[in-house]
Amino acid sequence: MTFKALLATNDGEKISTNLVELDDTDLMPGDVTIAVDYSTVNYKDGMALTGRAEIIQKFPLIPGVDLSGTVEASSYPGIEVGDRVVANSWGLSQTHHGGYAQKARLSGDWLVKIPEPLSTRDAMALGTAGYTAMLCVLALEQGGITPDRGDILVTGANGGVGSVAIVLLSDLGYRVVASTGRLEEADYLRELGAADVIDRRTLSEPGKPITGERWAGAVDSVGSHTLANVLAQTQYRGVVAACGLAQGLDLPATVLPFILRNVTLAGIDSVNAPQAVRIEAWSRLARDLDLEKLARTTKVVGLAAVPDIARQILEGKVQGRTVVDVN
Ligand code: NDP
Repeated sequence: MTFKALLATNDGEKISTNLVELDDTDLMPGDVTIAVDYSTVNYKDGMALTGRAEIIQKFPLIPGVDLSGTVEASSYPGIEVGDRVVANSWGLSQTHHGGYAQKARLSGDWLVKIPEPLSTRDAMALGTAGYTAMLCVLALEQGGITPDRGDILVTGANGGVGSVAIVLLSDLGYRVVASTGRLEEADYLRELGAADVIDRRTLSEPGKPITGERWAGAVDSVGSHTLANVLAQTQYRGVVAACGLAQGLDLPATVLPFILRNVTLAGIDSVNAPQAVRIEAWSRLARDLDLEKLARTTKVVGLAAVPDIARQILEGKVQGRTVVDVN
């Protein structure tokens, strides 16, 4: 039996992707085989497919850092045939075939069972971006940031992490302020739950090391001067969850927010997050997320559209989440 896959190759100068037919002998070792329903396109997929960052470490490789589907065969304890599962990151699209295929074989250690009421499609409407947004929310909660503490800023608001963070935080009762470069999308951001929308240019240029206290907390997927300014504007004992680098990977800040305001900068990594943290994040997504709002952030494409979307996401042109129907 053959299956369809998007395969990445590298001629030494650039990465190319082609739709190909593979069979089971092309799969990599693993104790669980999955009939894949959906994958997605994250910013990291954009970097992998375009070669902007050296994400793919061996070629040829099926990219796609996320996948969801149904277990076809398993020798992994606790994972049974018929289970609906999701995989985010680990070695996917780095050293192991990823989600842009109708079939996957991987280690059961990398899988989380999808909690009800989420479907395999919901799981990819969330994907790494949505699960990372939840990790950020958990970091705010762990830092004691409750809705009564004040406004929460979400940067990169139209992006995948940003859109899901707005939905989650507003549904949990926080007053969310969305920072975006696409002010024309303010109505969309308000529909998701933003109480206010600000222009990202107010944050993206070099600013003062410490300034007026505006935010009880923040979810930042942008980095660089934006993150430095957010830290400078965060209230006493506030928490900033930093997960991204859409503006840049630098952090031109000072220690003043930490030593004068006791601000916490919480780092967020989704790739190697321990399994217990993943399970908590996915069960909170299943419990807290308004699935109708999630659907509003999501569009569905086929495998052939992935390379284009990968380019667009790096240009900041993709809104919300893109689900890839691999079948
Ligand atoms: P998206 O491309 O969907 O979202 C990024 C958003 O950032 C854009 O939509 C845009 O929002 C904003 N943006 C883009 N370019 C700039 C810029 N030059 N300056 C300021 N803002 C900009 O990506 P994702 O949501 O999938 O990922 C967001 C970031 O988080 C990425 O850097 C990604 O690598 C990182 N990430 C990290 C993870 C981790 O484990 N730490 C996991 C997942 C993602 P708008 O148009 O509204 O301004």
